[in-house]
Amino acid sequence: MRRYLIAGNWKMNTNRDTAVSLAKSIADGSQAATGSVDVLVCPPFPYLIPVQDAASESQVTVGAQNCYFEEPGAFTGEVAAEMLADLGIQSVILGHSERRHVLGETDAIINRKVLKSLEKGLQVVLCVGELLEEREAEKTNDVLDEQMAGGLASVSAEQMANVVIAYEPVWAIGTGKTASPEQADSAHAHLRKWLESHYTSEIANGMRILYGGSVKPANAVELLSQENVDGALVGGASLTAENFVPIIEAGA
Ligand code: 13P
Repeated sequence: MRRYLIAGNWKMNTNRDTAVSLAKSIADGSQAATGSVDVLVCPPFPYLIPVQDAASESQVTVGAQNCYFEEPGAFTGEVAAEMLADLGIQSVILGHSERRHVLGETDAIINRKVLKSLEKGLQVVLCVGELLEEREAEKTNDVLDEQMAGGLASVSAEQMANVVIAYEPVWAIGTGKTASPEQADSAHAHLRKWLESHYTSEIANGMRILYGGSVKPANAVELLSQENVDGALVGGASLTAENFVPIIEAGA
């Protein structure tokens, strides 16, 4: 059976003090649940280490929200996957819609980041998802196929053990509009089929596919009860333990 992963994407939020206290409250509050569910928090780069320290006595793992695809060198302002691995950071979110649509990342760029991160031993949370106009034009499956093929190009079957997919419909991110449980399950089922036809049924069945987009305590149980939903990638509601811990518990 797939073990649920509940991940918090803190985006460009918190400061040193609030990041540390949030990590501590999540670590304390999720103690019982982490026996049966994986928990990941992804703070901004400057707070990775303080958050890692704050969560060190717990089962909560720490991830980054991005990295660069080159080896360390003359790339001003970038952070290498190797540096994250060096710090003991276990995961990295790649292909988030804000990086695609605000920062202009293409599937080709994302793919280079995916390959480099996997090479360095990081778990990759690869985000895919359609815009509202793409959904309305009934292009959701085509967009997902393209983002999967682009993002996972040259990723071996063996490396797929270190990949998690996050389906995040762009129209549901930070808008308060959640995909209905049926919409989420049908997109996830499509992604699983894609994995089956491009890899193996074993890889497809074992792959964790998270849902992201306005997940909150009030809708978490229903979303997570869908057959093909194996966890959540949570933005706004991951910024307080009061909201995030009940979502973790919904996955336990
Ligand atoms: P919200 O939960 O704030 O909608 O954000 C979702 C998201 O983008 C997580 O990566």
